[in-house]
Amino acid sequence: MFDQPILHHEPTPITDKENPLESMMRRFDIAAEILGLEKGLYEYLKTPAKQVIVSIPIQMDDGRIEIFEGYRVIHNDILGPSKGGIRYAPDVTLDEVKALAAWMTWKCAIMNIPFGGAKGAVRCDVNTLTKVELEKITRRYTSNLLDVFGPDRDIPAPDMNTNEQVMAWIMDTYSMHMRRTETAVVTGKPLILGGSLGRREATGRGCMIVTLGALEKKGIKAKGATIAVQGFGNVGSTTAQLLAEQGCTIVGISDVTGAYYNKKGIDIAKALAWASTHRTLDGFTGGDKITQEELLELECDVLVPAAKEEQITAANAPRIRAKIICEGANGPTDASADPILQEKGILVIPDILANAGGVTVSYFEWAQDRAGYFWTLDRVNRRLERLMRASFDAVYQSAEKYSVSLRIGAYILAIDKVAKTLKVRGIYA
Ligand code: NAD
Repeated sequence: MFDQPILHHEPTPITDKENPLESMMRRFDIAAEILGLEKGLYEYLKTPAKQVIVSIPIQMDDGRIEIFEGYRVIHNDILGPSKGGIRYAPDVTLDEVKALAAWMTWKCAIMNIPFGGAKGAVRCDVNTLTKVELEKITRRYTSNLLDVFGPDRDIPAPDMNTNEQVMAWIMDTYSMHMRRTETAVVTGKPLILGGSLGRREATGRGCMIVTLGALEKKGIKAKGATIAVQGFGNVGSTTAQLLAEQGCTIVGISDVTGAYYNKKGIDIAKALAWASTHRTLDGFTGGDKITQEELLELECDVLVPAAKEEQITAANAPRIRAKIICEGANGPTDASADPILQEKGILVIPDILANAGGVTVSYFEWAQDRAGYFWTLDRVNRRLERLMRASFDAVYQSAEKYSVSLRIGAYILAIDKVAKTLKVRGIYA
């Protein structure tokens, strides 16, 4: 009801099929309108500060030379050095990277982390590459971006199809060129290279913390609350495990191979053991097999989409029966589904808040590396909980103040913070 844009600015073109950039811009436009953002600031904040495309020539193991394309987009660095993951995918586009970079700006602003937003990608299919080829791509991508990356400039992290090992290669390549070991240039590193305790579970832990906050707002007790989780990777499995530890009943889980339902609650320890032995949930016997669509549409207290983007659209939103949606994934809900969910009274904890636990502990990792002083797991988790709860409350208050959804409340909070900071800094010419 409140989330319809009334634009004074030139509207962002929207096509029938949404891509993440369009979805992001639709929400941005609504928040900018409510804030009465002046046109110049609006243009400034929607435009990435830097977009770099690099060519990555690699001699493959069979002797052929193949050229890969890599991107790094810095959306904004007004609040501090830019921060954002690097994904490897055969179909990744510059538009997708631009949307993800902007999301990082808003995420860091909401979390009160002194970082701007960035994202990077290489168009490649990791399933067809050998480890040697993957290392070569990573090192050449890094060396092409030496002038962009840096602990005070732009700090990469893992994203889809990149991991601790890839971060270790980036850190090593950067360090070789700088002639010194520079651990703070990436986060999500192996512990032995200056990674942080608790980083691997941080995103799922953040999801758990904000889900508990949302349950409280809805007057639902955590003990016995029913949860369905889409995706059983890092974010989905950790969220399921931590919510189960809080007494919630995980009635549904899924991964790319299938979905499972158990009214009495899925034994998450068993599911984790199954996934670790078989690599996927395929054949899991702890629940009845249901379809992927049925999982999303289960009657439950909380749905946690923690797999990929565009899972909840205008087509299936009318059939969603959860009372709360906690967006573990980035962009799981199309902008066109927002008003439908809101009309149904579903409380959606938006991705830029729900999955911000990862970047928060990345910030802790960067701070520990720079101080050369490492925290206990207990300290990491306590500080994460404090920041997540504070941001959840701030987003909730912003939504109440403007009578909007939590998502638009979050965008308002983020855009306002970046815009105010920009105004105080002024425009350098
Ligand atoms: P992951 O690769 O560890 O896990 C992804 C899971 O989703 C796998 O279990 C996969 O089988 C499943 N999946 C893929 N397609 C599916 C489909 N169509 N239906 C059901 N399941 C499907 O990835 P992850 O790190 O857990 O990330 C998941 C999402 O969370 C992504 O959108 C990512 O951008 C976002 N995210 C991750 C982090 C992090 O710290 N890992 C931080 C912020 C946001």
